[in-house]
Formats: sequence, C-alpha cells, structure tokens
Amino acid sequence: MTTTLVRQTKSTCSYCGVGCGVIIESKGDQITGVRGDPDHPANFGRLCTKGSTLHLTAAAPVSLQARLLQPQRRAERGAAPQTVGWDTALDEAADRFADIVQRHGPDAVGFYISGQLLTEDYYVFNKLAKGLIGTNNVDTNSRLCMSSAVAGYKQTLGADAPPNCYDDVEHAEVIFIVGSNTAYAHPILFRRIEDARRANPKLKLIVADPRRTETADVADLYLPLLPGTDVALFHGMLHLLMWDGHIDPAYIAAHTTGFDALKSTVRDYTPKEAARICGIDEAALVQAAQWFGSSKSTLSLYCQGLNQSSSGTAKNAALVNLHLATGQIGKPGAGPFSLTGQPNAMGGREVGGLANLLSAHRDMANPEHRAEVARLWGVADVPATPGKTAIEMFDAAARGEIKALWISCTNPAQSLPDQPTVRRALQRAEFVVVQEAFSTTATCAYADLLLPATTWGEKDGTVTNSERRISRVRPAVPPPVQARHDWQAVVGFARRLESRLPGRLNGQATLFPYATPEEIWNEHRESTRGRDLDITGMSYAMLERAPQQWPLPQGATAGKARLYEDGRFPTPDGRARFANVAYTPVAEPREARYPFSLTTGRLRDHWHGMSRTGTLGRLFGHVPEPAVEMNAQDMVRLGLKDGDLVYVTSRRAALLLPAQASQQVASAQAFIAMHWGEEYLSGCTSTGERVYGVNALTTPAFCPTSKQPELKHAAVKILKAELP
Ligand code: SF4
Repeated sequence: MTTTLVRQTKSTCSYCGVGCGVIIESKGDQITGVRGDPDHPANFGRLCTKGSTLHLTAAAPVSLQARLLQPQRRAERGAAPQTVGWDTALDEAADRFADIVQRHGPDAVGFYISGQLLTEDYYVFNKLAKGLIGTNNVDTNSRLCMSSAVAGYKQTLGADAPPNCYDDVEHAEVIFIVGSNTAYAHPILFRRIEDARRANPKLKLIVADPRRTETADVADLYLPLLPGTDVALFHGMLHLLMWDGHIDPAYIAAHTTGFDALKSTVRDYTPKEAARICGIDEAALVQAAQWFGSSKSTLSLYCQGLNQSSSGTAKNAALVNLHLATGQIGKPGAGPFSLTGQPNAMGGREVGGLANLLSAHRDMANPEHRAEVARLWGVADVPATPGKTAIEMFDAAARGEIKALWISCTNPAQSLPDQPTVRRALQRAEFVVVQEAFSTTATCAYADLLLPATTWGEKDGTVTNSERRISRVRPAVPPPVQARHDWQAVVGFARRLESRLPGRLNGQATLFPYATPEEIWNEHRESTRGRDLDITGMSYAMLERAPQQWPLPQGATAGKARLYEDGRFPTPDGRARFANVAYTPVAEPREARYPFSLTTGRLRDHWHGMSRTGTLGRLFGHVPEPAVEMNAQDMVRLGLKDGDLVYVTSRRAALLLPAQASQQVASAQAFIAMHWGEEYLSGCTSTGERVYGVNALTTPAFCPTSKQPELKHAAVKILKAELP
C-alpha cells in the first residue's frame, strides 16, 4: 500500500490587507488543509474565519464546478460560450484589440484589474497598457478601496507610504479607529488590539463610526458621527488640541509647512459647531481630543469609512493633520496608519497600476518621471494624459468611447456603484475579455472571451500588506486543466499584440521577455532604485526566508518598521504639509423624498462578491441572508417588523429585501452588506431594468482628487412592500 505524503507550503492569505501567513497542506493535486504560519509577523499563527476556511472553499464542490478550466469564447452576445484553445483565444484578443487601437486610437481600450492580483500580475498589466499600447487606461478595484488614502498621504507626507507597522499597536497609549470595522474587516489585527488592551488596561480605544459596529461596541469612547462628517470631527479635534495646548510647536516649526493657513480654517470648527455638524455630544468630542493630545503615542487606524467618500482625500489629509500638529508620527505607537482593504492593494500602488500613477510611486504629471519609466521599459514615451479611473472607464464605455475592456480578477457588474450604467457599459463595449478563476461572477455573463485564471493555492508571486510587508505567495498545487497564471496570460497576449502593433517597441524584440514571476519582480525591483519604496536590497531568495518591509535599499539587511523617524519627509523641502481642507457634506444628502442615509460594509465571514466564501455553507451561519438593517424606532414608525419585505429605493434603482432591526444603526440610517450579488439580492430601475446587489443603489459621485466613489453613502427611501 502506498501513502501520499502531506506537503506543507508557506503562502499568504488571499483575503484582506492584514496579509496573514498561512501554511497550506496538500496531498497530490489536492489542498487538504490550512493553518496560520507561526513565523509570519502579521499573524504569528492566527487566522480568522475566512482565512481558516480557505482550504474548504478551494475544495468545495460548488467551487470546483464553478472553476473556469479552459478558454471560452462567445460567437455573439447572449450565446453559450464555446471552448477554444489558448492560442485561438489570445490570437482573437490580440486581433480585436489591435483593430480597435488602429481604428480609434489607444485610449479606446481599457484594463480594469484588481487588488487581489499579485504584484507581478499588476506589473505586466501596467506595462502592457502604458508601455506597449500607449494608454493610461489601466485602473483597478483598489480605486474603490485605497485611492483616497494614496492621495491623502501624498498631499500631506509627500509619498504614498503608510508610516506604521503592526507592532505599533502594542506601543500605543491611544488607538483611534475611524471609518473601520476592524473587528470584521481586519480581524487578526483586531485580535492584536484586544491583546494589547489586556496587556495594558490604560490603553484607550476611541472609535468613530456612524454604525455602532462590533469594533465600536468595545470602545472606551464611541463617537457616532453622521455619515461623511469626518473632516468636521478632525477639525473640531484640532481646534481643541490647539486650545488645550496639546499641539507640538517645535515639531510643527521644524518639520512641517502650512500650519498657519490651517489654523485660520480650523478656528471656525469650535467644539460646539463641530459637534453639531457631526451629530455627536460636544463632551465626547472634547474627551476624544483630550485623549488624543495628552497621550505619548496615538495611533490612528482607518479604512473605507474615510476612503469611500466624495471627500475621501480631504478626510485622510485632515486626520494626518492631527498627527503632524501633535508630533504623533515617526515614533513607536504613533502615526496615521491606513489599513488596506485587499490583499495586494499596496502592491498595485507600488507598481503604479492605477490610471494616474506610474511605477514605483512616480507621478504621471511629472515629465521627468514619465521619461524615467519610458527609459526603464525601453519605449519612446509614456503618455502624459491621465487614464480613465474606474468610474470614468465604465462611463466612457457606456458612452461608446471605450470599445474594448479587459477585466481581470474583479467583478465590476457587482462591485461598482451605479450598476445600471456599468452593465450598459459592458453591453455596449465591442469586445470584453474577462480573466477569472470562477465562471459564477456576474461580469462573466458579459464576456466575449473568458480566460481561465489560477487562484489561491496555485498562484506564485508576491503581495504587500498594510504595513508595507512583502510576502511570498506560493503554489501548493498545479493549476487545473488549462488555467493559467494572470501574468502568463497577459504576456501571451502582449507578445501577440507586439507583432500587430510594433510601433512602440522601439527596436526591441519584446517588452515582455519573462519566463517566471521572479523575472518580472526583479524588473519591478529595479524600477524602485532611489525611490521612497526602494527594494533593491530585497530578492526572492531573501523573501524565501522571511517576508520583508519596504524600503530595503541595496546594502540594507532589513526593511524599515517605521517611516519618518528623523522628521524628514519625501517632499521637495523635506517637510510634511498640513492640508488646509474644508468639510463638505456627502454628495447626496438625505432629504424629504429620500430620508434615509444608506451605508454599506462588510460581514464577518464573507469576502467581496462571495465567489469563494459563498461556496461554503458554514460561512452563512453568521448572517444567512441579505437584509436592510434599520433602527428599531424607524421600523415602528414605518409599521415594520423583522423580516417584512421592503423596497429600498435610491435615485437609481430599488431593491427588494427583508428589514431587520439593529441596535448598530442610528435613526434615519440604514445598512446593507456589500457582498450579496445576483443570487441573493435583486431589484429594478425605474425603466424596469433588472439590477442586483447594493451597488444598484449607490451613487457614482466620487472624490475629485482620488476619484474614489462614495460607496459609503446614498440617500434612500424605505417602504413596506405591498406584495400581491
Ligand atoms: Fe486572511 Fe485577513 Fe483573516 Fe488574516 S485577517 S486570515 S489576511 S482574512
């Protein structure tokens, strides 16, 4: 009798930005188990419910049935897809893209990619669009996640670099969580906060959130601010910090600029006025400022509540202002620490995989930076015009301006706001390629060409977590049937496109000479030389031994846990800049016809559109079905009881779902989780068009600087459904 040995492969969890290390157990071609990696500094062996069931979702029959195993093409829209070989699929893709570029120019095509791709995948997509085709139309679902944090950091600190590390949780005297249900969205980091509170009972936890979430519920001080009022909260706190002598004049004088201008703005945000705007008790605001300012080390943790906003950049910058004014940055336990939502939103930012960024944190608007990237890639130039960001890209496709879309590892037919427009865009585009591991996402139905991708347990490359730590993602099993790694599909397509559009090759045989992900990563590494995220001292061999934080320049033996410890910032004069921003209300305030503020967010046990977590029955045990959560008094007023079906209607569409009383939701507010897609939550527009998921209701309004949409707020009305 032969026994098959259990193999152990170290890798990284594919869900959130905490970036936990995992050990995958496999036998033959089957993943059989997963456990936390005790040596990984993000989690020291712990996993949350999502991470600890990764192996079950990988092996679930539903998941296996849903896997895309071979390329498929549709002869026409609506027809059943037919299996084709990779050569046929990539030849057709190259023919169609080349034809559209030749007829309409490079900006007639767009690539919409994902913070769940690996850094190597991201790198080749970015080079394909900006280097080979000559369009900056490459954007990512990280636009829905982190672009306000990017813009906020750049505006104030000079670079998109979170200054902190997870160890800071243990060094903090005050932790200020704002716009983040850390307990659900970053569970292992939250466990660490709980441990730190047990170890140090004097550690104060302040949470600001419109919902009394599981995170808010355990806070020492909870600020139930009205949706979108964060800037007023931060300015009110700064007003108090100045008044009470908690600012650090020496730090401000030595390391910053712009404080005087901000001071005159903040003068108007008296505690009374700020509390009025935010809808909170003035005493609570005073307490928050007092704790923030009197602590030796205050750490702010924040996420989508600040980012997914029409004033997302201002919110981020106003929070950074608090840290600069008090000198609470560049030392253990202190700093503005933005948490990344997805497992590799950071890696995408590093390679410049967004429509307004270039490789290694270079700026598209800077001619020298464009020239540097062109030199690195050996092309004549990189276009100067910023590309279309997520919302703009689908709007342009709906207008017929973008004619070919390539979508990888993301599901815009569920996750983008204003779903009716997004689906019109997918219908109107002449050619849609969807590169996916699972055939069940709503976007697959719009694909002319479906390319089977590898997924967790099969992929090979790197990701970067919230604390700038780069970890290896390793394959435990081979790709099934004809599934290919995302970078491989892109390289295969790019080489075909090069023979059809040789104009930008600049005499080179190919811009894509890679045979392994390591070769791609090495090229990316070289692009970081001399930049704030310099990783020229890092290598795959080093990462084999342990994950590493950037920067880690040539000659260094370890990365930097904390940035700005010397008080110098990556700005032209070396000083951080206070952002003189003003509070602006949400884009779509509630009013008589739409009297509820709808917010959206995550559940504990599901991930994004559920293409993986939705395959496992046990992950529905916590929350079995969609509901609109409402304040109990509002339900009484509307004559509703738990389970009654209601129409939740915004200016764009209506959804039908049960109402449920929740102590977490304030009066005149409502909450629907983001995960429920076509199978669970449907409705229609006023013209009878079918729509699905909460983003049928959300607004396409976005922050003018970061272009991140306001997924956290829409005005809605809620009416009991009178069913026949
Ligand atoms: Fe995965 Fe995030 Fe859970 Fe860690 S906290 S196991 S990275 S989902």
